[in-house]
Amino acid sequence: MTATWDEASACPADETPGKVMRRQPQQGGGQLVTLTCNQTRCPYHTDGWVVQVRPDNTIPDKIDPRTREKQFTPLQFNSMRREATLAALAEQARSEQRPGYEVPRV
Ligand SMILES: [Zn+2]
Repeated sequence: MTATWDEASACPADETPGKVMRRQPQQGGGQLVTLTCNQTRCPYHTDGWVVQVRPDNTIPDKIDPRTREKQFTPLQFNSMRREATLAALAEQARSEQRPGYEVPRV
């Protein structure tokens, strides 16, 4: 199923036109557009929703933020980077405890 931009960019709750917050170009073309609702009392005012635009400019059905987690596979890269960061922080903490330690110049 596909939607038009007007359909996809309208708030899922009250169907007022959404405001584009972010456009994320996707690998291989297309983009993910994050929109929020202009109605301050609307649940989509803070959460927003994501519209996927395919490389050929067609738009599949809306991605609701509440189901979004299921559709995106977590990147292993993130946890690897977290471990590297923690290791660097631990190393830094050790270094700073040494007497006479100076911050290395890069
Ligand atoms: Zn709304």
